[in-house]
Amino acid sequence: MGSIETKAPAAELSFEKFHNVVAKGLRSSEKMHHGVNPSDKSELWDVPIATERDLDEAVEVAREAFKSWSKTTWAERQQVLAKMRAELQKHVPEMAKLLSLEGGKPIQFATGEVMASIGTLDYHAKAPSPGEEILQDDADLKLTLRYVPLGVAAAICPWNFPLVLAMGKLCAAILTGNTIIIKPSPFTPYSVLKFAEMIQQYVPPGVVQALNGDDRMGPMMTEHPGIDKISFTGSITTGKRVMMASAKTLKRVTLELGGNSACIICPDVDIAKVAPLVALGAFFNSGQLCVASKRLFVHESIYQEMLQELTKVVKGWKVGGTAEEGIMLGPVQNEMQYNIVKGFFEDCAVNGYEFALGGKVGGEDGFVIQPAIIDNPPSHSRIVTEEPFGPIVPMMPWSTEEELIPRVNDTRTGLGGSIYCADIERANKIASQIEAGTVWINSFERPLPQAFFSGHKESGLGGELGRHGLLSYMNPQVIHLYKTDVAKL
Ligand code: NAD
Repeated sequence: MGSIETKAPAAELSFEKFHNVVAKGLRSSEKMHHGVNPSDKSELWDVPIATERDLDEAVEVAREAFKSWSKTTWAERQQVLAKMRAELQKHVPEMAKLLSLEGGKPIQFATGEVMASIGTLDYHAKAPSPGEEILQDDADLKLTLRYVPLGVAAAICPWNFPLVLAMGKLCAAILTGNTIIIKPSPFTPYSVLKFAEMIQQYVPPGVVQALNGDDRMGPMMTEHPGIDKISFTGSITTGKRVMMASAKTLKRVTLELGGNSACIICPDVDIAKVAPLVALGAFFNSGQLCVASKRLFVHESIYQEMLQELTKVVKGWKVGGTAEEGIMLGPVQNEMQYNIVKGFFEDCAVNGYEFALGGKVGGEDGFVIQPAIIDNPPSHSRIVTEEPFGPIVPMMPWSTEEELIPRVNDTRTGLGGSIYCADIERANKIASQIEAGTVWINSFERPLPQAFFSGHKESGLGGELGRHGLLSYMNPQVIHLYKTDVAKL
């Protein structure tokens, strides 16, 4: 690894002190804020709010670092990713605890997020380079398509899966020869800042930096002329703002936005087997998953039986603050989201929709909301047309594919979808008609690092992960090599 400058190993890591990672080291700020533990509303640790000067310096250092980082080889960068993976592996329990405290995740799922982050590092530590493509090679001309890194990438991240979503961006950016500045959500800054700190020993200064900011940091990044690419994951509304602001400097933009994914259940399924999967699809992480099943369509012949079974499964789960043992669903992550989700409950109640399960919000610890299933609300209702991003889901019957597909696609979003069906041919036929970036057959929704992940329609622009995700951090370049005298051609 001759060309990659590395540093001395980090001093003992503290999981109770948090800094921004700028240039050569850790940095605090005159202004601090703190996260809130959604399980009991207690204050978490102080965390510095980066300033515009911090950002300017981070960009300058990232641009400088890009000059040599972009010259390192694919294999060298993969060795760095493998070291990062090993470092994270050493701290699984501490990082899981951070994710549980900042995000309200039950510890087994917080551990799952750390393991998924390790899996993401692993994938990128082994992923093949996009290489070169020969478009033409004859006596006169050789046309070679190759890919070059973009420069400085900025990752703007949400709060629902703070570590693993940042990891997808970090891995792809640095593997393809870019440098990256990561902005975690101010609601969940801890795990990302700690990861950026622990891996500094493996990269030259400026290759990976992390800045926690207040509401101004995202807009400052999208406006910054020294940033070449924004990879944004968050809401559709903010995504549109990101795209508008980035247009001024024609930054490359990847947008991973919200969705209103449908889950389709065919009449031939084994209800007892499928109900727990459907329940996970709708309620995993208390419904705060971009590709969660947000509309359940169940064939009319099994509708009542499925409703009963699903209700039974979810009733069997323990829902509460994450300090308790055996919790399956934790709280909603923050107060703002809690109030949004509460609004959906109120709208269903006011309009007299049937709660097959749940219905009451309040009286719980922290931002805990007991899960709810709405039995056959009208297709124009808010719970069907909007994304609640919380533990409430509508279930509707269908009779034929002809009437089902237009209902499934009757949304401006197109992120995901799932189909449960014993007849695989039928499942594939239905999948091919869903207007969405990813469709799962006989599984709940779980993105994989090797599978490109993208939103159709208003769910996004471009995408991440897999080979195509890597290409989103690169510019194509075509070399025209003339072998004969051009004047003769
Ligand atoms: P959000 O849009 O409120 O915030 C996302 C990030 O953008 C945060 O870091 C925030 O500080 C920053 N930000 C806010 N205003 C900005 C601006 N004007 N310019 C630049 N940055 C700005 O989203 P959220 O509430 O954190 O996340 C929930 C949403 O994210 C849901 O809609 C969910 O479906 C979506 N999501 C999508 C995916 C996906 O991969 N498609 C994954 C997770 C979440």
